[in-house]
Amino acid sequence: MDCIFCKIVAGEIPSAKVYEDDRILAFKDINPCAPVHTIIIPKEHSITCCNDITEDNAEIVAYIFSKIPHIAKLCGTEEGYRVVNNCGALGAQSVFHIHFHLIGGTQLSEKLN
Ligand code: AMP
Ligand code: ZN
Repeated sequence: MDCIFCKIVAGEIPSAKVYEDDRILAFKDINPCAPVHTIIIPKEHSITCCNDITEDNAEIVAYIFSKIPHIAKLCGTEEGYRVVNNCGALGAQSVFHIHFHLIGGTQLSEKLN
């Protein structure tokens, strides 16, 4: 599958790993928008975007969120951060392997778009 995040999971493309376990991977965004900009993904490419989340597959999304406090701490931004998901073309999604942006390390703007 021609998916850049699957290639990162497979080790075919290098990444700056922040956290990894058997189900998820977190790595630094290659084009950061803040001092902390970490991408968190499920290792399995089963959900492409938020529109694909169902009652049957949502557990991995809950698992990712259960690890966010730990990942935020590893990134040194536990005091405050933003978790973002871009969904679809109008949402400016560019990689169609579901992922969450953990953004922080500075005072974030009140404006979301
Ligand atoms: P999105 O636009 O929400 O789909 O987010 C995709 C993110 O992946 C963007 O912020 C990119 O900068 C980031 N990205 C793309 N390729 C890589 C890569 N090889 N390593 C780390 N981050 C990447
Ligand atoms: Zn993938």
